[in-house]
Amino acid sequence: MPPRGPGAPGVCPQCGQPLRGSPAAACTSMMCMGRRRAREVSEAEERRRVDRWETGRRHASAGPAGAEFAVLPGQRRPLVPPPADAILAFKTHLDHVAGLAAAGLEGEHEPTLPTWTPDTPWIDAACGACRGACCAEGRTNHAFLTVATLNELRLSGHPDGALGPAELVADILARIPSEHVEGSCLFHGSTGCTLPRHRRGQMCNRYYCGPMKTADRRAVESGSDRLVVVGLTRTVSLGPGGGRVVAHASDGTDDELVAIGLASAAGFEPISPSAVGSTT
Ligand code: SF4
Ligand code: SF4
Repeated sequence: MPPRGPGAPGVCPQCGQPLRGSPAAACTSMMCMGRRRAREVSEAEERRRVDRWETGRRHASAGPAGAEFAVLPGQRRPLVPPPADAILAFKTHLDHVAGLAAAGLEGEHEPTLPTWTPDTPWIDAACGACRGACCAEGRTNHAFLTVATLNELRLSGHPDGALGPAELVADILARIPSEHVEGSCLFHGSTGCTLPRHRRGQMCNRYYCGPMKTADRRAVESGSDRLVVVGLTRTVSLGPGGGRVVAHASDGTDDELVAIGLASAAGFEPISPSAVGSTT
């Protein structure tokens, strides 16, 4: 069979499609260049995914022989005082949604909530090892405190549900820590979320990242009740206009080890990084 794909005779060097014109014409085609770019991005992402998995596997070799392992995100950004402008923007949002909830109204932009639930007992321990990489999403989403969440609190029968909107807003604002994880949710403090579980957004109580779901499925399939967790850095930052950007670092900190240990129903038991083999 003759060679196919980019560079083969008679095919576009950009996208690998059969040539209908001259190679020069193909090279200036926006469609061809777009296809090539899409292919390069996809291949780079796949290489990166495999590299990350290999890095995790090498780290996991420090755990018990034959144990299941998972490569999860992790974050190690510094603690900083929460920015005053971010607190002000959050207060404006909170005033609005608390007012709507107190009036018994629905929210305009309620997020679609995840429905997946974990099957394994070590989820909380593993998330603790990650140090809440996904909480960066809470920065641009106002800690996921929506009208639906506040309505749920109001109707839950919990004493906090009886608070008036002004009291509720003041109480929630008072729970912003003096230092939080830089660029992350205002409530992302040094030991995790500073909001009690029943005060957190519905999203916060229901969301699990893709790697966590994969780890959960693998553990169920293998019948394992504990897991070697390898948390590797994932950079999450605010993009132009406040949109979230989830990207892998390109500054040499990619795949830096944040945590390694055994997660089980009993909690998280760190494994000494010194026992971990070379990652080069
Ligand atoms: S769901 Fe994923 S990103 Fe979020 S804390 Fe857990 S492991 Fe980390
Ligand atoms: S409210 Fe808590 S759980 Fe939710 S995003 Fe913020 S820090 Fe994370």
